[in-house]
Amino acid sequence: MVNFKKNSLAPISALKYLFKKPHTVRYPKEDLNVFYLKGVSPRYRGLHTNDLSKCIGCGSCAKVCPANAIMMVESKDVKPANKFAKTVRPVIDYGRCCFCGQCVDVCPTRSLQMSREYIHSFHPKLSTSSEKEPETVVEDFIWRPDQTHADNPGYVRT
Ligand code: SF4
Ligand code: SF4
Repeated sequence: MVNFKKNSLAPISALKYLFKKPHTVRYPKEDLNVFYLKGVSPRYRGLHTNDLSKCIGCGSCAKVCPANAIMMVESKDVKPANKFAKTVRPVIDYGRCCFCGQCVDVCPTRSLQMSREYIHSFHPKLSTSSEKEPETVVEDFIWRPDQTHADNPGYVRT
């Protein structure tokens, strides 16, 4: 049996939601406050950072990666110390990365680490040229210096 009294009052009772705090947020403009650190899960390991001055381009990170998520690409930002120094540097494909941290563990210079101070901002357009893809992937992350998680940094080798 249809409850006409209840149905006719339903639009009025819905008005109470106008004064309730919404559960959705306009991420990343607004932070999620569901975790004890704003915006990120306490167990989130973070995104990779690579100190280009320390990285020697050995490719160990790419070799150990179980997801085949690391490509070694020529970097314009690298100033080789001598003519034998490698100018390739790792680029991570986050469509493949499973955040295991093995690349961080194996890095002999400790240049590769993970940081929680980055957030994924949007999905890039897929490039038709595989050469252009690494650049697109790198630009897909923005650094949030306002979010410092010094008491719970990203994954680093112990
Ligand atoms: S393992 Fe470390 S030093 Fe070697 S290429 Fe990767 S980031 Fe650079
Ligand atoms: S965290 Fe794991 S899956 Fe991701 S790039 Fe490093 S080794 Fe590969």
